[in-house]
Amino acid sequence: MSEIINVDVINSLLKEQPTEKKVDEILNKALMLKGLNLQESATLLNVEDDKLLDKIFHAAKELKEKIYGKRIVLFAPLYASNYCSNNCVYCAFRRDNKCITRRHLTPQEVVEEAKALMNQGHKRIILLTGEEYKKAGLDYLEEIMDRIYHEKVFNGEIRRINVNIAPLDVEGFKRLNSFGIGTYQLFQETYHRETYTTVHPSGKKSDYDWRLEAMDRALEAGIQDIGIGPLFGLADYKFETLATLMHAQYLDTKYGVGPHTISVPRIEPAEGVAFSQNPPDQMSDKEFKKIVALIRLAVPYTGLVLSTRETPELRHELLQLGVSQISAGSKTNPGGYSLYKDSSEQFEMSDSRELDEIVLKLAQGDFIPSFCTSCYRKGRTGKDFMDLAKPGLIKRFCNTNALLTFKEYIEDYGSDELKKAGNALIEKEVSAVEDEKIKAEAKRKLERIQNGERDVYI
Ligand code: SAM
Ligand code: SF4
Repeated sequence: MSEIINVDVINSLLKEQPTEKKVDEILNKALMLKGLNLQESATLLNVEDDKLLDKIFHAAKELKEKIYGKRIVLFAPLYASNYCSNNCVYCAFRRDNKCITRRHLTPQEVVEEAKALMNQGHKRIILLTGEEYKKAGLDYLEEIMDRIYHEKVFNGEIRRINVNIAPLDVEGFKRLNSFGIGTYQLFQETYHRETYTTVHPSGKKSDYDWRLEAMDRALEAGIQDIGIGPLFGLADYKFETLATLMHAQYLDTKYGVGPHTISVPRIEPAEGVAFSQNPPDQMSDKEFKKIVALIRLAVPYTGLVLSTRETPELRHELLQLGVSQISAGSKTNPGGYSLYKDSSEQFEMSDSRELDEIVLKLAQGDFIPSFCTSCYRKGRTGKDFMDLAKPGLIKRFCNTNALLTFKEYIEDYGSDELKKAGNALIEKEVSAVEDEKIKAEAKRKLERIQNGERDVYI
C-alpha cells in the first residue's frame, strides 16, 4: 500500500486551530516566498473568520503579483474520444452511461479539431480521452500528436500539447514522453481511499494505488513536468487540499521536482449521471477562494490551473487570488469545436465564452493573456524550471513572453477593440519593466512581431 498519503497525519494536522497571531506569522513567511509546511497550511485551511480570510486573500494577491505578475496563460482542451472502460460515478463518459452519444475521432478528425483551435489563436492544448486502450492507445496518441505538431493554419500552430490520459506503466510513460508532450496531468480525484473505492466501482481506475503512484512512474520514465489535483466534491475539501499538498511535498522531496501545476476542478453536472447533480461534499465559493489562496501561498512556484467549469465572475476573482492558467472557449465533447454537435460532453461548463471574449476581458482587467510555450521549447522544464521558479526568477521570462505572444494574438486574431486595449496594455507593461536590458529586448522583439515575424520568444 502506497505511503504517499498519511491519513493519520492529515487528520491530526487538521486539528490545528488558527489564532490571528499564528495566521499573521504564517502569512509573513509565505510572503518571503518560502512556501508553507503542512502544519501551516492546515492552520490556514481552518480559518473561517472573515477578517482573517481577508488577510489570507490579501497575502495571496500580493504573492501572486510578486511571482507571476499580471500574466495568465491560456489553453484549450481537445477531447479525442468519450469511450471509456471505467465507471467513475461522477463522469458522463462512464461505461454504463447509456444516455450519451459516443464518438471516437479518427486522427484526421483530431487534426480538424486542432485546426479549429489554431484558427481561434490557441497555441497550447491539453489532449484528453476516456480510458479505452483498444481505441485510444499509445499508437493512436503518437499519430495524432505528430500530426498536430506538423499542422499549420495561416500563422496558427499548436506549440505545446499537454496530456491528461489514464496512467501508464513506466514503459508506456517513456513512449508517451517520446511523442513530445508538455505536462502530463492526472487528477487523483479523491485522496480519501474509502471514498475512492466507492466512486470508482469497476475498471482499471478502481485501483487507488496505481493512480496515486502514477506520477512516480511518470518521473521515473523521464517526463519532466507533471500536474496533479483532486476533483473537489467527493470528500471533505480540507482533507483533499492537504492531501494534494502532501502529494506535492512528497514529489518535491523525493525527486527534487514538485508538480508543475495543481488543478482545482469541482464536480459539474454531467448528462445521465445523477451523482454529479448533487455531489456529497461540494464546497462553497468562499471555501473555494480560500483553497486557491492557500495553494498559492503554500506552493508559490506551482502553476494553478482553473477550467471553464467555473463562472466568469468567480474565475475573475480566483485569477487575482492565485490562478495562473485558465482554459478558454472549451468544449468537452469529442468533435465539439468543428465537427459534431451531437457527441456528448463530459460535464456542463459554466463559462461558455469564446477565446476572443475572454482575451478582451483579461486585457480590460489589466491581465496579460499569455500563449507562451517557451520554457518547454528552451528546455526550462523539470528541475531546471523549478530552480528558476522557486526563487521567483522565472517571472522575467514569463512576463516578456506573455507580452510577445499576446502581441502575436492581437496582430493575427484581434478585433479593433482588442487591438486598442491590448497595444495600450503592452506599451504600459513594457515601459514598467525595470531591467533596461530586458526592456530593450522586449521592444526589439515586439517590433519584429509587428513586422510580421512569428514565434518570437526568450
Ligand atoms: N479518463 C482519464 C482519467 O479519468 O484519468 C482522463 C481524464 S478525464 C477525461 C478528465 C478529468 O475530468 C477527470 O480526471 C475528472 O477529474 C474530470 N471529471 C470527470 N467528470 C467530471 C464532472 N462531472 N465534473 C467535473 N470534472 C469531471
Ligand atoms: Fe472514464 Fe476518465 Fe470519465 Fe472516469 S473520469 S469515466 S476514467 S473518462
